[in-house]
Amino acid sequence: TEETLVLVKPDGVARGLTGAILARIEAKGYALVDIRLVEPDRERLEKHYAEHAGKPFYEPLLEFMQSGPSVAIRLAGNRVIEGFRSLAGTTDPTTAAPGTVRGDLGRDWGLAVQQNLVHGSDSPESAARELGIWFG
Ligand code: ATP
Repeated sequence: TEETLVLVKPDGVARGLTGAILARIEAKGYALVDIRLVEPDRERLEKHYAEHAGKPFYEPLLEFMQSGPSVAIRLAGNRVIEGFRSLAGTTDPTTAAPGTVRGDLGRDWGLAVQQNLVHGSDSPESAARELGIWFG
């Protein structure tokens, strides 16, 4: 069975939406293998977001991700990588489909980075790499 890394990002934790997001994940039927509250340092975030280094939102993104704790979740199930990304919705919460986490619970706050509540690995390779970064 497949595994993925899910993060409830600092905006989700700060807004008290961790439970609502976990409820959607559990209702879908995926299995929580491990879960922890993490306050990542810059080095961990540089590894996690290496593919975005140099992009205009990179520094705001790293700052945002250090603004408070995130909840890291090791999640398991058949096709959970694709399935969680479908639950999460597209990156921009303004246009993410209603019914998704970002579409229902997120919005644009006019900041330099999209505060879009969650992260989910986008491939088996990313999942293995990111699970090592957050649970290694
Ligand atoms: P994630 O990887 O966090 O699940 P994603 O795959 O939808 O999200 P990525 O393209 O990997 O998005 O970008 C990582 C994160 O960087 C986004 O979740 C968002 O917080 C921020 N981000 C991405 N693109 C932009 C943008 N154009 N403007 C502002 N912030 C952005």
